[in-house]
Amino acid sequence: MTTSTTKTGSAAPVRHVAVVGAGLAGLAAALSLKGEGWRVTLVERSRLLGGKATSFQLGDVEMDSGQHAILGCYSSFLEFVEELGMRGDLRIQERFDVLVLTETGRARLRALRLPAPLHLALPFLRFRALGIRSRLQVARALLAAKRPRSGEEGETFAAWLHRHGQGQQSRRVFWEPFLVPALNAPFDRVSAAAGLMVVRTALLGNRDAARIGYATVPLARFAERAAERCDEVLLRTPVTGLHVEGGELRGLLTGGAEIGVDATVLAVPPERLLRMAGVETLGVPDLEKFTTQPIVDVHLWYDAPHALDDLDFAAMTGSPVQWIFAKGPGYLCCSLSSADDLVSQPEERLVALADSELRSRLPELSQATLLRGVAVRDPEATFVPAPGLRRPGPATALANTVLAGCWTDTGWPATMEGAVRSGRAAARTLVATLRKQERAAGRAPAPPGSRRSRAGVGHE
Ligand SMILES: Cc1cc2nc3c(=O)[nH]c(=O)nc-3n(C[C@H](O)[C@H](O)[C@H](O)COP(=O)(O)OP(=O)(O)OC[C@H]3O[C@@H](n4cnc5c(N)ncnc54)[C@H](O)[C@@H]3O)c2cc1C
Repeated sequence: MTTSTTKTGSAAPVRHVAVVGAGLAGLAAALSLKGEGWRVTLVERSRLLGGKATSFQLGDVEMDSGQHAILGCYSSFLEFVEELGMRGDLRIQERFDVLVLTETGRARLRALRLPAPLHLALPFLRFRALGIRSRLQVARALLAAKRPRSGEEGETFAAWLHRHGQGQQSRRVFWEPFLVPALNAPFDRVSAAAGLMVVRTALLGNRDAARIGYATVPLARFAERAAERCDEVLLRTPVTGLHVEGGELRGLLTGGAEIGVDATVLAVPPERLLRMAGVETLGVPDLEKFTTQPIVDVHLWYDAPHALDDLDFAAMTGSPVQWIFAKGPGYLCCSLSSADDLVSQPEERLVALADSELRSRLPELSQATLLRGVAVRDPEATFVPAPGLRRPGPATALANTVLAGCWTDTGWPATMEGAVRSGRAAARTLVATLRKQERAAGRAPAPPGSRRSRAGVGHE
């Protein structure tokens, strides 16, 4: 896809910015810079737009690369979707309401129409999936979580839960189904700060914060709509190196060709950045310290189109399947987060596992035949917010280059919200830095193409 319309919307000369990486971080940065009147070239390695939040065709089904849930507290992501004119393509609950399928039955946790935190506190006291002792344990921990303490960055979330007296049932029925998918890592590998950020923002936030939602169209549609706003989109164009001169990034190397730029947003994961640029060039420490965790989705089709008509989504406790989503008549998607032990299992085994987990919790499926099962694995789904991990901000050692990505220092774990926030922060930093430079030099912004602007050369 290539377009060349330039909509400056401002009297100032247009700058040419390359955004490398068409995930949500890159796309959010691109939209912000378009809003500033810049000319944007989007450069993406893959044939698909959207990065981790994309969709692909498998036979007659278009499926997401991973089942994504949205929360009411995703303020920047929701604004981004609104800006794309696609708010109607999200379904978000009017209030937090989760069906929990336990080993012994079903329970529901449903917010009341009361001010926070009473809206969740009162229903929680009646949450039958947990015994009264466990309910009190969790309530005490939630109260403690309200008060941020120093040292949360260095402690693991597992140690924090232990220190706050959380027993096995509290962990299995409350903390694991709600927090493992949000953090996508075992609690002994993530910082208490990351776990508590989710608790404070979603569970202890305002009345709308914990509401759950999802996209009703394939995720790639959001990315495609955002990319339409860019001036030029280069797919299947991996950036393999950077041309740096005089402390600035002058060009992107793509398979022997060079794309000239005035400024760049590098919106790729840390390991890609390391390969592309090296640590010294960008002056960003600790890139090699980032680790990732897998997610597996298992899609199941049953010959029982109406058996689960009342099911929208549900959490499962004590199971490798943490959440299930009804995707269509007889079609369910099972989400298995923090799936280190499972990601390399053969597809038949993953399908059999998910099928037996569902049948053990959903008697509605007892007469149903499984027609088809597909496993979608992402071995490097999300970064691990490990204790002590230093996440960089947008600025780099190169005056005209910034970083974006859900792994940068947004405070959020790997989420669509973190990605959009990072992209917007990167755009703000770039605009502010270049304005400052111009003021210092007492000159007007550079005209378009002043530095060998050859966008499009690297198109494969
Ligand atoms: C299976 C799964 C389930 C998830 N579930 C949820 C959820 O329920 N809720 C939620 O909020 N979040 C969820 N996430 C996390 C969310 O999808 C990510 O945090 C977010 O989409 C990351 O966006 P990003 O732009 O930072 O990075 P990415 O999406 O990784 O984008 C980076 C882009 O850079 C491109 N790229 C890399 N190297 C180069 C190169 N050399 N040249 C050019 N381009 C390059 C990549 O191809 C990619 O398109 C999930 C993720 C996965 C994988």
